[in-house]
Amino acid sequence: MPHNLHRRKRTAMSHPAGAGRKPGSQTSLRNANQRRVLDTVRRSGRLTQAQIARRTSLAPSTVSNIVHELMDAGLLVMAADHAGRRGQLVGFSGSAGHVVGVDFGHRHVTVAVADLNQQVVGQRRHELPSGHRFGDDLELVRRVLDRLLEEIGTPGSTLLAAGLTLPAPVDLGGRLISTSAILPGWGGIDLREEAGRRLGVPVVVENDANAGALGEHTRGAGRGTRNMAYVKIGHGVGSGLVLNGSLFRGATGSAGEIGHSTVDERGKVCRCGSRGCLETFVSSGEITRLLADTHGSDLTVPELVDAALDGDVGCARVVGDTGRMLGTAVATLCNIVNPELVVIGGEISRAGEMLLGPLREIVARHGVRGSVRDLRIEAAELGLRAHVVGAVILALEHVELPLGTGG
Ligand SMILES: [Zn+2]
Repeated sequence: MPHNLHRRKRTAMSHPAGAGRKPGSQTSLRNANQRRVLDTVRRSGRLTQAQIARRTSLAPSTVSNIVHELMDAGLLVMAADHAGRRGQLVGFSGSAGHVVGVDFGHRHVTVAVADLNQQVVGQRRHELPSGHRFGDDLELVRRVLDRLLEEIGTPGSTLLAAGLTLPAPVDLGGRLISTSAILPGWGGIDLREEAGRRLGVPVVVENDANAGALGEHTRGAGRGTRNMAYVKIGHGVGSGLVLNGSLFRGATGSAGEIGHSTVDERGKVCRCGSRGCLETFVSSGEITRLLADTHGSDLTVPELVDAALDGDVGCARVVGDTGRMLGTAVATLCNIVNPELVVIGGEISRAGEMLLGPLREIVARHGVRGSVRDLRIEAAELGLRAHVVGAVILALEHVELPLGTGG
């Protein structure tokens, strides 16, 4: 167990063996190297020892010693590689701990439990009533989480951190939403502290599009890219940016809010208080409303996409127009940040080329040639899971592994 390791280290520190030598600095070096190995495995998921050596710049023999020490301590395990790479894969053991990802939408919450190898081991999605409030929602999350832990067969004490994502801009401290107009009922609450108190673990709070960008960059369509944008189309519309390999939040945490960029100044009043925002044209509510007279007022986006793929002309027209409308905003985004990849997420992205074709056409027309020539535009590989996977990755970044860096 990791906690034994922690205790063992402390014991060693308080009774250093071999008076006259400098055991402190050796222990400190060993601990620093152990941490490098653990952090590398945590950031990348399972790796071979050769990969760990390359990524940490440690000698293969040092890596081998450290891996065996950490296996003895119960933190790491070795398993056969099913993907056909040579050598066995080193990953975290199930007893090393778990993290929780919680993704709040305007009308749903998804709770996922993952191991320290970035693998989701249990997940539940619940619909929420309109106008739901944070306090009630956290109670629901707590109940869902307890059930999930019971199903997985792991005690709550193995939870190390939680990532929580919201459909609103979050300040840089990850505590407050920046504007309560976007998410009424959640304003003025220290979300990190409140969620931490209810869930009993350290919590990191992030905007859902930012989390989606992180999820797709780490585990989805954006793997291996340095500069990418993730655009989510749901009840709200937003984007997250990964620039030079890291999530870009901007000066106040509101970077990428393209849903509230103005498309038509004389258009509908938006929930943000402005008029004619992109969101008032392409959000789930708006695109289904376009079909209310012809296809019924209870049409959902998944039904709309199915009908479009089945050849329904009206639904296909709405999907194509959504792509064109998004194209204008995506072209502007590309002219400014010049990404190599734009990932489109949300239920409508399942329409594939029917959405992406018109989108690419408009981006090619309005984008500066140099910035869009080699640009790829793809549907989210993780689908609707992008946000909760991002929440899990965020939680993993904030896990305190049971080794001190200072030794
Ligand atoms: Zn707006």
